[in-house]
Amino acid sequence: MPVESPASTEPLRDALARPLRDLRISVTDRCNFRCTYCMPAEIFGERYTFLARDEILTFEEIERLVAVLVPLGIEKLRITGGEPLLRHNLPQLIRQLRDRTGIQDVALTTNGTLLKRMAGQLRREGLTRMTISLDSLDEDIFHRMNGEKLSVAAVLEGIETAAAAGFAPVKINCVVQKGVNDHTLVDLARHFKGTGHIVRFIEFMDVGTRNGWDMKQVVTGEEIAGLIGAELPIEPEEPNYFGEVARRWRYADGSGEIGIITSVSQPFCGDCTRARLTTDGQLVTCLFATGGTDLRGPLRAGASDDELREIVRAIWTNRHDRYSEERTAILAEEGEGGEREGRVEMYQIGG
Ligand code: SF4
Repeated sequence: MPVESPASTEPLRDALARPLRDLRISVTDRCNFRCTYCMPAEIFGERYTFLARDEILTFEEIERLVAVLVPLGIEKLRITGGEPLLRHNLPQLIRQLRDRTGIQDVALTTNGTLLKRMAGQLRREGLTRMTISLDSLDEDIFHRMNGEKLSVAAVLEGIETAAAAGFAPVKINCVVQKGVNDHTLVDLARHFKGTGHIVRFIEFMDVGTRNGWDMKQVVTGEEIAGLIGAELPIEPEEPNYFGEVARRWRYADGSGEIGIITSVSQPFCGDCTRARLTTDGQLVTCLFATGGTDLRGPLRAGASDDELREIVRAIWTNRHDRYSEERTAILAEEGEGGEREGRVEMYQIGG
């Protein structure tokens, strides 16, 4: 039975009056890439043990949890991973979520390399938006940042396939690391300028515990805008909506726009409306959280929808998260290595 349509409810607000509106759902902890800032190959090697099948939420469990959350205000979903396209039959989950919850806005974040055989079906099953990760057009840097297995060409083909399937404009996420790919940002911007696709440059973040983050490797949003603007003049643009993560910049010649995500230099916790569901059913209220609340246990133990909803209501109404705003003070007190122990890993929540 479809639940009440999303728009009709007054969203639940947290302790900082931020509404619960966006849910990011990690459908697998596996990936065919080995990005250094998320799943470094030296840790996630051939012998690494990922979650067992019975540990991960089934489609029916995901669908039920989303349906439980809609009356609390959830109106946008983002499917992530690991690499979500590795989850068998993913288009079916999209259809189930659309039909059961009435949510119209369902997006996906992927590395794009498995889209060739799936883009059309994802579109038919109701996927509305697509974000594809590409950190550089330079093959060597691509391999250095994302692993040896695949190629820039495979990702570019994925972007074309997504556009052909009706997902244009595609958002293209690029994690920027000083001394790694910052000298190739302009090439990436120039490649997509005038295509309608939107490249979003992301400041390198201290997510999880495994990416060796160092403030010295952060290229700030201002520096990124400076690098791009020096060759491709840009002007600041108004946000599309409250809580939009990327700061928008339009090309002065009218040929499109880019985005810059400034979690480190200009935090945006004040309008953070995002909750995250891990592959094994933990509800996480911040990208930098040191843990979540288990929903899989009560769900499998027979909790009713109301009981599950009350668990989430208690979590969100007591939410004070604003790590990015507190980062500077925490780093000053604890140093760059402090505080990270026990943090939820990027591949468990998909960003
Ligand atoms: S640091 Fe946490 S609270 Fe701040 S914007 Fe990111 S996810 Fe939201």
